Amino acid sequence: MSSNAGVANINGGVMKENNLRLILETVRSRQRVSRKELAALTGLTAATVTNLVKKLLRDGFLLEGERGESRSGPRPIFLELNAGWGYVVGVELTATDIICVLTDFRAQVLHRLDVPFDMEAGREAVLDLLVATVVEAIAGSGVERERIRGIGIVSAGPFSRARGEMIAPPNFPGWRRTPIKRIVEERVGIPVWFDKETQAAAFGEYWFGEAAGSRVLFACNVFRVGIGGGILVDGKAYRGHRENAGNIGHTKIALDGELCTCGEIGCLETVGDGRAAVRAVRARFAERPDEFEGVSDPGEIDFGFVVRGAESGHPACREAVGDCAQYVGMVLANVIRTVAPDTVVLCGEFPDDCEYFVKQCIRSASARFDLAQEDVRIYHSTLGPQIAALGGVAIVLDNLGPSSEDS
Ligand SMILES: [Zn+2]
Repeated sequence: MSSNAGVANINGGVMKENNLRLILETVRSRQRVSRKELAALTGLTAATVTNLVKKLLRDGFLLEGERGESRSGPRPIFLELNAGWGYVVGVELTATDIICVLTDFRAQVLHRLDVPFDMEAGREAVLDLLVATVVEAIAGSGVERERIRGIGIVSAGPFSRARGEMIAPPNFPGWRRTPIKRIVEERVGIPVWFDKETQAAAFGEYWFGEAAGSRVLFACNVFRVGIGGGILVDGKAYRGHRENAGNIGHTKIALDGELCTCGEIGCLETVGDGRAAVRAVRARFAERPDEFEGVSDPGEIDFGFVVRGAESGHPACREAVGDCAQYVGMVLANVIRTVAPDTVVLCGEFPDDCEYFVKQCIRSASARFDLAQEDVRIYHSTLGPQIAALGGVAIVLDNLGPSSEDS
């Protein structure tokens, strides 16, 4: 065989694989679809669709369901995903919780666990707990372990996706260069994919939330500690040079300002995350303790206190949360101008726990960018704390697509 023919074969294989994925994704988004509709939706010829569907049925990805209506000729058979083709576990490891979900191939959640822990227990103890949580989720779901196709673990950066390694996350003291993928794979015996939690949140919203079909999605994660972003273009991650895209927490919003954990000055994180809100309210308490009935010590003012205060109208809490939201909204307006997403989703503890933050953040972005005029949707995700764990599931499902080879 000449080398040219080899290249042609490889390209043919890649094209077939892309088309198989396209069909699978179309069935996933439509839930039930006929071959004729598939041809119209994908732009593939009827003959190609018939061939590819035959392979997907043979490999167990698809099932033939009930028949639809037809005015003339045979009634079309609807195709759907085979929920039992395989099962997936998604895990988010935060600095305080292990959030674990188990889903079928249709991405229906069958089991979920949220296990809080104390980081001071140390890395080995937390890794033991993570492995035990995955094992417990599988046992609790009733799915045989052999039928779990993969585990998607997501956590804080910096990280190496290629090596499946946590590099040195600031809130994980003692976790420097932790090969989390290898550790969990060895101990659970199931393939693991590892990714960043803020990127996973974008996947979670796209696959499980309300962003399906969005062309360019920006997920804005605002946490108690830290701020980050994730970008999807046509459902695929846009990661940028060194996978650093979307890192809005360290965009600069002031020439001078507070020192950030990253070592620089004037980062969004220093004025926009939960810590910033708590700092501001504590500073106000130091000046005007009379505004804080029943509080005798600044230590009593934590994130929960501040968001509850903002919700119930406490002036100092409203002001602090409003300021954080102003800054985040301002950066979002800049993101909208530079990245041009059609959809921006707010997620993370700050928006999840504080509706006032969400409102003020959207108001701040709208004041700087005409969202309606430009047809940009910005909203708060309803997926709550599971969003990144669901993203872990999506990452596995995205990697488990069909191959062009015959099986
Ligand atoms: Zn920074």
